[in-house]
Amino acid sequence: MKDSFGREISYLRISITQRCNLNCVYCGKDDCAKKAEELSPEAYYKIAKAFAKCGITKVRITGGEPLVRADVPEIVRLIASIEGIETVALTTNAVYLKQYAKRLKDAGLTGVNISLDSTDGSTYRHLTGADVLHKVFAGIEAAEAAGLAPVKINAVLMKGVNADGAEAMIRLAKEKPIDVRFIELMPFSEKGENEALRVTGDELLAKFPFLQPVESEEGTARYYQGDGFLGRVGFINPVSRKFCSECNRIRLLCDGKIKPCLGQEKTFDVLPFFHDEQRLCEEIKKIIFQKPAGHNFELKRQMHGLNQTGG
Ligand code: SAM
Repeated sequence: MKDSFGREISYLRISITQRCNLNCVYCGKDDCAKKAEELSPEAYYKIAKAFAKCGITKVRITGGEPLVRADVPEIVRLIASIEGIETVALTTNAVYLKQYAKRLKDAGLTGVNISLDSTDGSTYRHLTGADVLHKVFAGIEAAEAAGLAPVKINAVLMKGVNADGAEAMIRLAKEKPIDVRFIELMPFSEKGENEALRVTGDELLAKFPFLQPVESEEGTARYYQGDGFLGRVGFINPVSRKFCSECNRIRLLCDGKIKPCLGQEKTFDVLPFFHDEQRLCEEIKKIIFQKPAGHNFELKRQMHGLNQTGG
C-alpha cells in the first residue's frame, strides 16, 4: 500500500534479535550481549502475514545477528510460506553461515547479504572484536554452494580505520560474481556520528575511476563495474545522497514493535492486536500511512544502535 507521501511500501525488514556475536566499533553501544524480548517464529509469521495483506512482497531477516537464533530456518520457512511474499532474504555477518546455508536455502531463503568490512584479518579483528574472518569466508563459500547466489557483501568504510582496504574489497567483485556494496557510515553510535570518518560514494568513485555505471533495478544502490568484472560494486549513500523519497521499507523489531523509519526513533506496538488479524491489518495500515518523510540523520545521533533496530 502507499504511505501519505505516495511511496509504495512493499519491503519488510524483521529484526529477530538484538544479540550479536560480534561487537562492531561503529554499530551500537556495548549491548550486543543484551537479550531484549524476542518473539517466537509463529509470532513473526503472524505479523508478517498481516503485513503481506497490506502489500508487503519482500522480507529481509536481520538483527542483531540473526544466526545467533537456532530457529532461523523455521522463521524463514514460515515467512516464505505466506501468500504474497515473493522473496525472503537474510542479512548476516556470516560467522555461523557455514552450518546454516543449506538449511536456509531449503527453508526458502532467496538471498543473503553478508557484512564484511575488511579482508585483512587484523583490521577485521579490530573492527569486530573477533578473530573469525576465516569463518566469514567459509560462510560465503557455503552460501554459494547452497545456491544462495548472488551473494552480496556490504562494507562500511571509515577513514584511517579500514578505508585503505577498499581496493581489496573491489577486487572481490572483480574475481567473483559477487556484489560488493559500500554503505556510508550512519550516526548510530559515537563513531558513526563522527563525520570525519565517513567515506562517501563520490570519494570512492573519484579514487577508482575505472568503475563505470551499470544499469540496475535497485533503487537504493548505484552499481558500477570495471573491465572484466564478474560482479558489481555498489554504493549506498543514505547520508550524502538521501534516498528517503524512494524508500519502500518498514521494520519489525525483535519485540514486535513496528518502526516505520530507520532514522526516526518512533515505534508502534501492535502486540495488543495480535489475536485479531483484521484489527492487526488495520493498525499496520495506519502505521504505514504515518511513515515519516525521511530520516533526520543530519540533526542528531540515533538513540539506538543498529543492533537494536536491525540494519
Ligand atoms: N548482524 C548482521 C550483519 O552483520 O549483517 C545484521 C545486522 S547489522 C546491524 C546490519 C548492517 O548494519 C551491517 O552491514 C553493519 O555494517 C551495518 N551498520 C551497523 N552500524 C552502522 C553504522 N553506524 N553505519 C552504517 N552501517 C552500519
